[in-house]
Amino acid sequence: MAKVKRLKITHQPKCTGCELCVMETQRQLKKVGLNDSLIRILKKKGSTFQVELDPQIQNLNIQAISDICPTKVLKTTEKEEFEDEGF
Ligand code: SF4
Repeated sequence: MAKVKRLKITHQPKCTGCELCVMETQRQLKKVGLNDSLIRILKKKGSTFQVELDPQIQNLNIQAISDICPTKVLKTTEKEEFEDEGF
């Protein structure tokens, strides 16, 4: 069995909308600007934000993305997956 790391949203209400995670994602993709990011931060009513992750985010350095989040909204989790044994 192989362990697979995944980026998860854990404490969404704590998101401040700072977009540091978006900037880190764009930096890794060598993209300028915040358009077409694999993470979207949507402003909701009041001062709350909704975080959306594109599944392709899992292909990036997700540890760096979770580390940059000041309020620990984003977290990497590790889970065991069965390897394809070719049968
Ligand atoms: S870095 Fe964290 S707090 Fe900032 S926008 Fe992203 S998820 Fe929200």
